[in-house]
Amino acid sequence: MTMSSEERRRRVHRAVNAQKRGIRYSDAYRNNSYDDTGAQGRGETGYSPDDYNTASYRRPAGSSIQRSRSTGSGRNSSRRRQTNRRGRRRGPNILQILLLILLVAAVVVAAVFAVKGLRGLLQGNPDQETETSTAQSESETQETETMVSPAEQILTEAARLAAMYDYDGAIELINSDPAVAALPEAASAVAEYEQIKTTLVRQDISGITHVFYHILVVDPENAFDESRWGTQAGGYNGLMTTIPEFEKMLEEFYNDGYVLVRLHDMASMETQADGTEKMVPGDIMLPPGKKAMVMSQDDVCYYEYMEGAGFAERMIVGEDGRPTCVYVDENGTEHVGEYDLVPILDRFIDEHPDFSYKGAKACLAFTGYNGILGYRTDETYDPSSDMYDPEKTANPNIEADRAAAREVVEALRADGYELASHSWGHRDMGAITLEHMKKDTDRWDRNVNQELLGGTCDILIYPRGADVGDWRASSYSHSDNAKFDYLWDKGFRYFCNVDGSTSAWVQVGDDFLRQGRRPLDGYNMWREISEGRGKMSDLFDDVSAIFDTRRPTPVPAY
Ligand SMILES: [Zn+2]
Repeated sequence: MTMSSEERRRRVHRAVNAQKRGIRYSDAYRNNSYDDTGAQGRGETGYSPDDYNTASYRRPAGSSIQRSRSTGSGRNSSRRRQTNRRGRRRGPNILQILLLILLVAAVVVAAVFAVKGLRGLLQGNPDQETETSTAQSESETQETETMVSPAEQILTEAARLAAMYDYDGAIELINSDPAVAALPEAASAVAEYEQIKTTLVRQDISGITHVFYHILVVDPENAFDESRWGTQAGGYNGLMTTIPEFEKMLEEFYNDGYVLVRLHDMASMETQADGTEKMVPGDIMLPPGKKAMVMSQDDVCYYEYMEGAGFAERMIVGEDGRPTCVYVDENGTEHVGEYDLVPILDRFIDEHPDFSYKGAKACLAFTGYNGILGYRTDETYDPSSDMYDPEKTANPNIEADRAAAREVVEALRADGYELASHSWGHRDMGAITLEHMKKDTDRWDRNVNQELLGGTCDILIYPRGADVGDWRASSYSHSDNAKFDYLWDKGFRYFCNVDGSTSAWVQVGDDFLRQGRRPLDGYNMWREISEGRGKMSDLFDDVSAIFDTRRPTPVPAY
């Protein structure tokens, strides 16, 4: 029972609607949590019957009166309720007085909430809302949100930019509106940002660590089950990281002061006076105690062989316009949400914007042979192409899938992700012949870079970590290294191999940047635990506290 991609998309769209969070990016930041308002299972309106009941119960017909009466009396709550009930049965005069009191109290309460809410928003205090009485129902919270003024929006957005170390951007935003800039709150925010700027420390590019993952495991009991997947189960166990492991690592990175940066923040190509290009180290400015880190994820293709094995199936653009994941469980039910690195990291950075330097997230690497992001977009799936591979299941929706993949690509870029090549066929580029490498690189360029990424990709993450040069910068010579020269001509300027032996390995050449990456996978965690290597001791206090106990041990090498 195969379902067409179109039908799948429609179903996912419905699922997304059903799971609509009812929350905007800035709201998530202000509330400091998705969970408070994350509306699982709610309909379009954002209300569930429970909310409705809660709202009407909490609505303070009697509650303000209860409060004012109880202050002067030592009665217990059941007595107070009796007093109220009795009070309501009295004559019309009393009722009118009560109504009048109620009206005045309501006006006062509304005014207090309005002022407090306004001040809280202007101060950018995310805890402000929790200080307000529980009598303030969710519907009232939503009403105050819709009343947010442009000035408040600007100051809230400026606070978010400043939290991500973009102080200049925050100041520029405030000053872009003279009416906002004239507010005392705005002036004090600008003064604060200017003060913080004087304390920033320039990051040493050569000391920046780079960690990487593969697709995260949603269901370890499935993925690591040898009776189902044979030796592949051991491969998953060794190469992959589970979702709880990843989440614990994020917490440790954050608590240790790490901040995600882009490869393009580390260094970038600048045109010199003589017209030549030069790779120039960037100025990453962070407060004392913060340290830059690059994160990447390989093989973000959701390969055919992984289908049904306990991993996300593909990435889509969610209702909020941001990338998210589709996961199909054992019963064939589709779920949309945090089933891989991207949406998990997004939520974490919503909650901790200071984990991201100017909105940087991770770098995602794609091969070509199975398409990207779970869409079978490669020409080898296209029966009308000369390159069609009859061994593959033809994709009759290939054009629609390419369009869908391009949409996700745009959403990923807008969300702070960098995108990279991981070669077309996951070949060892150091070992294969120059001709083979050229053919493979051209296939990737045609099917992924030109077709889906807009032809702008300049990052190469070597499959199997296999570099085309040795450790010396001189091995990346245009005249002596034909492979490097070809890759450079194809537009690559950033090259990442694998080096788990040291906390950081960075090489800024004349016209390239190279960086070693550290695998934080099952096998390497198991080696830390079983051999006490200490290779991750700069990152984690205790790897065994991160290691998912659902893993079969010993974790096999790959
Ligand atoms: Zn790979």
